[in-house]
Parts: sequence; structure tokens; C-alpha cells
Amino acid sequence: MPMHNTDVIIAGGGLAGSLAAAMLGRAGIRAMVIDPHPVYPPDFRCEKLDGPQMRTLELTGLADAVRRASTADRECWMARFGRIVEKRPGDQQGIMYDTLVNTMRGEVSGSASFLQAKVTDIAAGPERQTVKTSTGAEISARLVVVATGLNVGIREKLGVTREIVSAGHSISIGFDAVPGDPRGFPFPALTYFAESPADRMAYITLFPIGAAIRANLFGYRHLHDPWLKQLRDAPRETLYAMWPGLRPLMGEFTVPEFVKIRPVDLYVTEGYRRPGVVLVGDAFGTSCPAAGTGARKVLVDVERLCNVHIPRWLATPGMGEEKIAAFYDDPVKQASDAYSTAKAFGLRSFTLDTSLAGAARRWGKFVLHWGKGTTRRVHAPQAPVNVADDDEHAPALARGASARK
Ligand SMILES: Cc1cc2nc3c(=O)[nH]c(=O)nc-3n(C[C@H](O)[C@H](O)[C@H](O)COP(=O)(O)OP(=O)(O)OC[C@H]3O[C@@H](n4cnc5c(N)ncnc54)[C@H](O)[C@@H]3O)c2cc1C
Repeated sequence: MPMHNTDVIIAGGGLAGSLAAAMLGRAGIRAMVIDPHPVYPPDFRCEKLDGPQMRTLELTGLADAVRRASTADRECWMARFGRIVEKRPGDQQGIMYDTLVNTMRGEVSGSASFLQAKVTDIAAGPERQTVKTSTGAEISARLVVVATGLNVGIREKLGVTREIVSAGHSISIGFDAVPGDPRGFPFPALTYFAESPADRMAYITLFPIGAAIRANLFGYRHLHDPWLKQLRDAPRETLYAMWPGLRPLMGEFTVPEFVKIRPVDLYVTEGYRRPGVVLVGDAFGTSCPAAGTGARKVLVDVERLCNVHIPRWLATPGMGEEKIAAFYDDPVKQASDAYSTAKAFGLRSFTLDTSLAGAARRWGKFVLHWGKGTTRRVHAPQAPVNVADDDEHAPALARGASARK
């Protein structure tokens, strides 16, 4: 089989890889994304993008396509102990993960193409890279972007290792909630915070995707915790037994399909500074879904890589380690990674801390939401408030955003 040539091979066509291919195709850079699935299959992952994520997406040129395929939440009610403390102007777009990735794939055109195959080997060096696929193809390129998500095979072949920094860090639960009242739920979208650290759950968020209301529940229970089986068998009763204050807000509802439950390990990679290859998204490191920073990390990684670094790298000969290092050392990427890590551990301790100080922090946040809600009711409508704006780690990301300029 003859050797194909291109400038950039992207191994993996999930969120990171498909977005990268769409951006490079629009920029006129020859690129090929390789993935075994011609259509990204249904998968329980990120199911909405918040305001900061949509703003990063604006920088990629793909925001309009995602907006067309997703559902705006219009307004989000924030509640705890059965009380609505704030009604925020909506800034979230609900979208199932497969729809999100397939929307990105639909934007792959121009000088970028899609190849259905599995990458089986990568030989990387400071000049050209060779990729072998499951279909027997050999492709030569100046750069390989590794966007293979949680899959370890390709990283191991490159000699990149994985260090788990928090095993079973959090648990993500997803289901559709169908209201008993034919008029629907009273809220456009709702975020309900845990009532006690003993719940070992951080919050539930309900938001529209098309005509359905999707529920994402995030917490810190072991996968074999019997509570999870109870939740799967009787979602409404189990939820209301834990958070009685949620019942008056949601009322009767049914769950038509299987409740999806996924544990997440937090890991970082080591030995990734190599010539000819660059790792992005979950292939570089995971984030905590409860903190909602996974998609943000992917979007920041790919935006910086495709808007800034790849065009610079291709402008001069060679693809040595020093070129690739500029991406990992990018201050915007570093701020995004640091924010993601801080938020993953910060939210966990905020939720589980049984000390008086922990209780005071949770009450402080409750009062802060109440204050914002009251101010918003009193004054004229304001610009949307972002989830990141009211937490203690937001300054790190703000610093990153200013470094973009
Ligand atoms: C349960 C769950 C809930 C989440 N919820 C949120 C949330 O609410 N908010 C948020 O911001 N983030 C959330 N995240 C995180 C976010 O979804 C991920 O960070 C993001 O999807 C990672 O995208 P990716 O492109 O790196 O990986 P993926 O989308 O997994 O893509 C990897 C791709 O690589 C392909 N591939 C693998 N091996 C090969 C190979 N050898 N050759 C070719 N292709 C290959 C796969 O087929 C796949 O298409 C959640 C994650 C999980 C697990």
C-alpha cells in the first residue's frame, strides 16, 4: 500500500480531535483525523457547555454550529434546602455528547479529511512522523496530534506514562427526567446543591436538551456503594429521601431509561515532551466532571494548539521537542489545567468537609447566591453570570484569559 502524506495527523476523533480537524481544515492546513467510528456513538460524557466554554468555542469558529445543534437553558434556578436562592440568566447550551462531537465532525472540510481506522502505531521524530492504521495504511506527516481520550494503547506505544492522582475521584450520573405534570417542570433549568456532607453528593443539575429534561448528578461515592443501586432501581424515591427539599421543586417525575453511572479517575501523563507529537484533551490528562472543566480543558487545548501553535510550527522546518514545548508551556493552557485541578479537589473538599469551617463555607455560598438573587430581582436584568465567577478558583482562569491577549 502506498504511503500517504499530509501535514497533521490527528489520532482520535472525539471532541478534541474533531474540533482540531475542523479548525485546521478551515485554516487551509492539510490534516487527517483518524477514528474507528464513522459516526461518534452515544456516550455518557459532558452534556452541556457553560458560558465560559461557549466563549472559548467562539475563538475556534465552531460556536454557531454548536449553538444550532444545542438547546439554550434560558434561565437557571439555583436552590438548596428546598429554597430557590437565585434565578440566573441562562448561559448554558445542553447537547448530548455524540451530537456535540458529530456536529464538530460535520464541520470537517476543506484541507482536512476523516479516515475510518484505528491508529495502531506511531513512529515519531524531529522531522517526519509515520502512523500505521488497522486498515494497513501508512501515513506520513510533520506532526501527530494524539487525541485518543482515555485509551492508553497509543500513549504507551509512545512511551508516555499515566499517573493516577486520584482514583475514583468522583462519580457522574445521568438520566432523563419526565415531569408528571403535562405542563412540564416549573423551572427552565435547575441546580440543586447538597444538603449535608453525609450525602456524598455535590449537586444535581437539570437542563433542557431538545424537548427532554436531562439530569446530571455528581458526587463522591464508591462505584459499589449500595446507594447507587437504589438510585438506579428507584431514582425519584432515592433522590427525595436524600434531598427532601428537592421534591417541592421537581414534583412527580419518571425516569424512562436506564440511569447511567460512571466513575472517573483523575490522572496526569508523564514523558509527553517529545518531538513530532502533541497530546490534547483527556489523552493529556483527565478532569473531574463534577467540576465541569473537562470540556473547557479540551476547548482551551485545541484553541491554543490550532489558532496559535500549529501554524507557527509548520511555518519553519522540523518538529523538534522545543517547538512542541511551546504548547505545554502556553500560559493560557497552564492556567486552564491549574484551574481544572484546583476545582476538582476544591469542590470535593467543599462538599465533604464535615468541620465547622466547611459548614461555614457552604452557608457562605448559599448566602452569596441569595444575595446575588436578591440584587438581580431588585435591579434591571444584567449580563449572564458564569458558574466560574462565583468560586474561589476563578481568578486563575481570569489570569489565563488575560494572557490570551
Ligand atoms: C461521565 C462523564 C461526564 C462528564 N461530564 C462533563 C461535564 O459535565 N462537563 C465537562 O466539562 N466535562 C465533562 N466530562 C469530561 C469531558 O467529557 C471529556 O474531558 C472530553 O469528552 C474529552 O474529550 P477527548 O476528545 O479528549 O476524548 P474522547 O471524546 O473520548 O475522544 C477520544 C477519541 O479517540 C478515539 N480513539 C481512541 N483510541 C484510538 C486509536 N487507537 N485510533 C484512533 N482513534 C482512537 C475514540 O474512538 C474517540 O473518538 C465528563 C466525562 C465523563 C467521563
